[in-house]
Amino acid sequence: MAENPSVAIIGGGLAGLAAALALGSAGHPVTVYEARPFLGGRATSYEINDVTIDNCQHILLRCCTNLIDFYRRLKVADQIHFYREFYWIEPGGRMSVMKRGVLPAPLHFTGSFTRLRFLSAADKMSIASGLLAVRYEFGKRADLDQITMADWLREKKQTPRAIERFWRQILVSAINEDLDRMAAAHGLQVLYLGFLANSQSYEMGVPAVPLADLYSAKAWAPYEYVKFAYRSPVEQLQIQDGQVRGPIKAAAYVLAVPFERVSALAPQLAIDLSAFTHSPITGIHLWFDKPVTDLPHATLLDRTIQWMYNKKDGRHLQLVVSASRSLTEMPRGAVIEMALKELTEFFPSVAQAKLEKAHVVKEVRATFSAAPGLEAKRPSQTTEISNLFLAGDWTRTGWPATMEGAVRSGYLAAEAVLEQFGSRQRFLLADVA
Ligand SMILES: Cc1cc2nc3c(=O)[nH]c(=O)nc-3n(C[C@H](O)[C@H](O)[C@H](O)COP(=O)(O)OP(=O)(O)OC[C@H]3O[C@@H](n4cnc5c(N)ncnc54)[C@H](O)[C@@H]3O)c2cc1C
Repeated sequence: MAENPSVAIIGGGLAGLAAALALGSAGHPVTVYEARPFLGGRATSYEINDVTIDNCQHILLRCCTNLIDFYRRLKVADQIHFYREFYWIEPGGRMSVMKRGVLPAPLHFTGSFTRLRFLSAADKMSIASGLLAVRYEFGKRADLDQITMADWLREKKQTPRAIERFWRQILVSAINEDLDRMAAAHGLQVLYLGFLANSQSYEMGVPAVPLADLYSAKAWAPYEYVKFAYRSPVEQLQIQDGQVRGPIKAAAYVLAVPFERVSALAPQLAIDLSAFTHSPITGIHLWFDKPVTDLPHATLLDRTIQWMYNKKDGRHLQLVVSASRSLTEMPRGAVIEMALKELTEFFPSVAQAKLEKAHVVKEVRATFSAAPGLEAKRPSQTTEISNLFLAGDWTRTGWPATMEGAVRSGYLAAEAVLEQFGSRQRFLLADVA
């Protein structure tokens, strides 16, 4: 029997891996060409001073249907631990917990929301009316991609504390952009899908193993059609007569690299990338000589550090700052000093612990900036070159730059490749309802 047409995938991040999984399971020989010696792209882990660390903490919500499907297919879904509690801590250490109660969605947070101590009654009324507006406007209002989330919150007359301690706290981390730079469409999407659509979709998934272990050789073993070429950066694609012809041989090509790499690899592609800019994320790893917290994670209010993740025994913490432009130029020593000072305000036991080591990861090109007007400029997964397809969190997925967005792009690219080969198969799963 003749072999199915083969596919070359350039880039072994989640977008490329999702495309490989889909095409490999459809019986097409796939080779993933990855420049680095490991898989996962930005969502990976590596060894540093004898410790394996994630490039940065990566979390998901239960509404990430395609990412969860990807983990299930690789049989690693049980390595993601879901948490039902969100811990909000004020400077000084006062804690509030948000979790679902007995009421059905969208009222499932009612009990714990009314008990949140870091918001006044007026702030809560303001947020409740804002969430009602999210429910009413998401997917219906036409100009949400033209205005910023800050514009939308002003329009909804949100109190300053509701904006700072609720909306900003959730959305800046979810979308990796400031409220006055992110399109309202993405803000409403996160709140609708994550917090209103159903009562489980907000649960936060945290990988219990280093990220790269999720895409191990063992996980891929059942996918005999999928092969990996590591340390294999692909140079410029050779395009002649509207077809990619090399430098590697395949019937179809999926370019699954970040947007800033596309022009070098395929200068002939007519995509206008001028509207794409980056937004940075900074991760700070701290190792103490004794435990400083027993919480699994917490969101920290009113300071630079936005999230704390307990990586091991309360002694190894990872702190995350999204949209971290204020830290980009700051020397690493100063970042660590700031992190320690702030952390002591939330966890006084930090003052009694000795910092054994620290590591700062500044990802200046962490994600694309989900600015107003960008949605219309995100290209689809098909191109004018008939055997060349695009994948990547930046392509048109309907999602901001996330692991879910990357997997969606990979599934969509795989569907487009199969259509080109004359068969029709669907991999993309619908959003939670
Ligand atoms: C610090 C940080 C924190 C984040 N936190 C979260 C989070 O908590 N939750 C979440 O959902 N998302 C998070 N994200 C976003 C998420 O990591 C990305 O959206 C997603 O991983 C992008 O996947 P991708 O496959 O599109 O791109 P990438 O992961 O960038 O993959 C592209 C791959 O292509 C390879 N490549 C590039 N050029 C070539 C070439 N010429 N030849 C061969 N290979 C090449 C690269 O080495 C890379 O492996 C975070 C990102 C960062 C940086």
